[in-house]
Amino acid sequence: MPERARLFTQDDLSDGGVVELTANQAHYLRNVMRFQPGETVTLFNGRDGEWRGRVAALGKVRGQVEMEVRTRRQRDEPDLWLLFAPLKRGPMDILVQKAVELGASRLLPVLTERVNSTRINTARLTANAVEAAEQCERLTIPDISTAVSLGEVLSGWPAGRHLWICAETGASTPVGEAFGGGQIGGADAILVGPEGGFVNNELDVLNKLPFVTAVSLGPRILRAETAAMAALACYQAVLGDWRLPPRAELDQ
Ligand code: SAM
Repeated sequence: MPERARLFTQDDLSDGGVVELTANQAHYLRNVMRFQPGETVTLFNGRDGEWRGRVAALGKVRGQVEMEVRTRRQRDEPDLWLLFAPLKRGPMDILVQKAVELGASRLLPVLTERVNSTRINTARLTANAVEAAEQCERLTIPDISTAVSLGEVLSGWPAGRHLWICAETGASTPVGEAFGGGQIGGADAILVGPEGGFVNNELDVLNKLPFVTAVSLGPRILRAETAAMAALACYQAVLGDWRLPPRAELDQ
């Protein structure tokens, strides 16, 4: 029976270690989940695996959890960035939540010509990502980057990382065929355009780059958040960790 709550912490997790709850976490356990001292909770920090801990003290804005046992070991996850043009608040919340569930390791807002908004609330994106990671039982939180222009991203592109751009126009390769030619376990990135799409000049520049492959997600025009989910899902199935055995076996 899984613990009633699973929380992300910045603290180290080790046998007998004590984790200080944040004020929000203390409030959530005490007032929302009605926890009592002595109950157990699951904690993870993105480095030390997942642990079961026992609530030693729980006040209105403070609390401590004593680590008892590691329940899952930390393991490698796909090195898969999602680059996306910022969207309106609702669709962006959906995009972030689903990208976390689908295993993106980094979320990088990219300012393209037709971007909806240049103001990104990184703190809000991070809070959404933590909540999604706690719920989907991921062992990490993706890096959330501040927004940069498409030109800046491309000029500093890291060697060895492939960029798959979702392009519903032009000479794009069907996504299954494209990913079928990819490298399992490689360093990859997926780019999804804004609500209004890429401008031709952006696609021209992108398609000339040796590390770029344009992929098609079928004959219909998907919303950007749908395209991000679809591309991430296809990637995980062909090149990522959906190819692995079920988690129970992995956690042995
Ligand atoms: N150009 C679109 C139109 O005419 O309405 C608007 C862009 S679409 C809403 C947002 C983004 O999702 C696109 O820039 C692209 O990255 C991705 N996308 C949507 N449908 C796609 C498809 N069928 N194949 C590949 N990418 C797609």
